[in-house]
Amino acid sequence: MKGAVLYGPRDVRFVEREDPRIIEPTDAILRISATCVCGSDLWPYRGIDAPRQPIPMGHEYCGVVEEIGSEVRNVRPGQFVVGSFFASDNTCPICRAGYQSRCVDARIMGAEGAQAPFLRVPLADGTLVPTPELPPDDLLPSLLATSDVLGTGWFAADAAAVAPGKTVAVVGDGAVGLLGVLSAKQMGAERIILMSRHEDRQKLGREFGATDIVTERGDEGVARIKDMTDGLGAHSVIEAVGTQQSMMQAIRSTRPGGHVGYVGVSHGVSLPGEELFFAEVHLMGGPAPVRRYLPELIGMVLDGKINPGKVFDQTVPLEQVAEGYRAMDERRAIKTLLTV
Ligand SMILES: [Zn+2]
Repeated sequence: MKGAVLYGPRDVRFVEREDPRIIEPTDAILRISATCVCGSDLWPYRGIDAPRQPIPMGHEYCGVVEEIGSEVRNVRPGQFVVGSFFASDNTCPICRAGYQSRCVDARIMGAEGAQAPFLRVPLADGTLVPTPELPPDDLLPSLLATSDVLGTGWFAADAAAVAPGKTVAVVGDGAVGLLGVLSAKQMGAERIILMSRHEDRQKLGREFGATDIVTERGDEGVARIKDMTDGLGAHSVIEAVGTQQSMMQAIRSTRPGGHVGYVGVSHGVSLPGEELFFAEVHLMGGPAPVRRYLPELIGMVLDGKINPGKVFDQTVPLEQVAEGYRAMDERRAIKTLLTV
């Protein structure tokens, strides 16, 4: 088969790769229905954490089970499934507590390379969630979104303790930030302030439930949030970027006693202890345990309650994966769906 491989900075190629096969008896092989490019794929693409050798790319996926190992019980060939970007056993104490992304046996799906027509999924029983029947094609983008971006936005909102009546601020207007808005809306937030300076993203944010837009960043952005909240700050703040500036903007926008849910992959962030001490805010975040939320999120998509697939504003065939990366790198696209 052919799939996406990163050779070096800004050099993604659609090249011949080994067909995935069952290695462990707990594996499943999927025929991918749709996959996509993640904002976090752009870090290695831009040469940050650059690989020393060519690596397969992609960790967001949904598809039909093609083959299962001898110990797989919960899914069977022919079923449509969605999984998270971490494979997990879903039985260890950490999984049972709801933190499947830190499963004692967690496997990072990026290593398998989901931007391809077929994918090996380790720990299939714990990782994959089947739908009751094969979904119609028009639901594929939204089902694919549950695999990472929606699951991550949902976790961020949950970690930020979003609840009815609360004021939520969202730092970051990428796909995760926008779906953080959607999640906050579903969780009953009263006011949702999206921090964004891009018109197309503001528009989608409003569609997803943002009530206010703040275009200022850094200290000015914090001052705007304070102005809008009687000088107190937001109850809940979602951080979906991962830089020093975005993290401090999130913490400083939160009122004492409030919650920050941070899901932007942290790059060079260092928190000042004294400021943190006096901030008196809750901090919770990390790689989202998407598996915890998948059954509920898939159900909401199948019921037509939410349409997170709207974050895909570009669709290209998998063989044009290089264009997908370029478009997201140049911010021409919020998120690129790859058809297989
Ligand atoms: Zn586990």
